[in-house]
Amino acid sequence: MEKYLKAIKENICSICADSSETGKCTLNEREICAVQYFLPEIIDVVHKTDSDEIEDYYNNLKNVVCHNCKAQDSDGDCYLREDSNCSLDRYFRLIVETIQKVDEQAA
Ligand code: SF4
Ligand code: SF4
Repeated sequence: MEKYLKAIKENICSICADSSETGKCTLNEREICAVQYFLPEIIDVVHKTDSDEIEDYYNNLKNVVCHNCKAQDSDGDCYLREDSNCSLDRYFRLIVETIQKVDEQAA
């Protein structure tokens, strides 16, 4: 998990709209980052998705992670997603690529 966390910090937090100029997360203690909170589930989805289509990763992430996230309502709507305020939704493509790159380096 450490190597994934490190890569996420280097590749996602560094460019995240919710990070400072030095890549430090600016969320307060009442806010939760879905990328950090659901990282084991996100990694699992990436490992289990066998597709060249990035949309398949997006849909599987939504089906697993958003399904278990309190921000999504029973209709499948999420106010954070709608406001482009979820880092998982904003950067999912880069997150998938980052996890795959860590796996390639480990192979
Ligand atoms: S919101 Fe998440 S992805 Fe963005 S800087 Fe904070 S921990 Fe990193
Ligand atoms: S898009 Fe919404 S429901 Fe999905 S992980 Fe982000 S905050 Fe949770």
